[in-house]
Amino acid sequence: MPEIQIPSKVVATEIDMFNFKYRCPCCYTSYKKDGEPRKNSFNKYHTHGSNGDLSNRIETRTHHGLNPFEVTIIIDDTTVRK
Ligand SMILES: [Zn+2]
Repeated sequence: MPEIQIPSKVVATEIDMFNFKYRCPCCYTSYKKDGEPRKNSFNKYHTHGSNGDLSNRIETRTHHGLNPFEVTIIIDDTTVRK
């Protein structure tokens, strides 16, 4: 698999009292046999605990997967409160 540059900063799309959700820049819903994402696949969402805090802030989490890395999740005015 080719080495790809992963953007480690993402903006959360949704937040509620339990979780926030962001679209992962490197995980896709389906892959071809060679490991490349399929044309009709889309980026997967990941969910992390919000600790009951709906305020704008920056969170850091470890992305689990084939290549673990630190991901910075920005919760701002565009993040939908549920
Ligand atoms: Zn991911």
